[in-house]
Amino acid sequence: MPMLMLMTRVLIATSNPGKLRDFAGAAVPYGIKVSPLPNFSSLPPVVEDGATFEANARKKAEQYSLAVPGQVVIADDSGLEVDALGGAPGVHSARYAADEPHAADSNTDDEANNRKLIRQIRSVPAEQRTGRFVCWIAAARDGKTLAVFEGKSEGFILDRPRGHNGFGYDPLFYFPEISKTFAELSAEEKARYSHRGAAFRQFLEWISKQT
Ligand code: IMP
Repeated sequence: MPMLMLMTRVLIATSNPGKLRDFAGAAVPYGIKVSPLPNFSSLPPVVEDGATFEANARKKAEQYSLAVPGQVVIADDSGLEVDALGGAPGVHSARYAADEPHAADSNTDDEANNRKLIRQIRSVPAEQRTGRFVCWIAAARDGKTLAVFEGKSEGFILDRPRGHNGFGYDPLFYFPEISKTFAELSAEEKARYSHRGAAFRQFLEWISKQT
């Protein structure tokens, strides 16, 4: 009789292909299948107006989980914190270049955000250009958060882009551990070293223990 393999399926509430790639890459060694939330683009969008990454991740996971009763849905909120800029762009990372005051529902494109970051960082001495990518993942079912996970990657902000992989601020984020920007990493390296990979591995450990 053929052995029945029951693969755990994880539904992810995101339309960002860069994130989907990162999640799928990290899940491979765990034998977990990562799928986008069905009909994600036709669901009412969740306004990311939380004061923290954690609050936004919880809000998205809880709200989107209502669309698939009984199933575990994960959502992440992530961004770049630059020490010399008081933690900016932080929760405003996706819409950093938008006009002030930050509108919770208006995102700006990666290039405009990167141009703004370069303008802001140029006057900061090189050794003070420390920062980190932060990612929070929330897992929810039927509108309730079950668990949250945090991952971080520490690095330096460049004032000139390097590399063509990845998305967002990747070309400006230099990761000293392997002397590359995040835009110079392969998908496997990104999964291994990124904040999202770190948070997602904690989630994978957790879900592996749920029966
Ligand atoms: P979110 O989609 O609300 O989590 O916003 C994430 C934003 O933070 C993205 O639009 C990027 O600007 C930035 N960001 C988060 N993670 C990464 C990453 O791994 N690489 C580059 N930029 C990132």
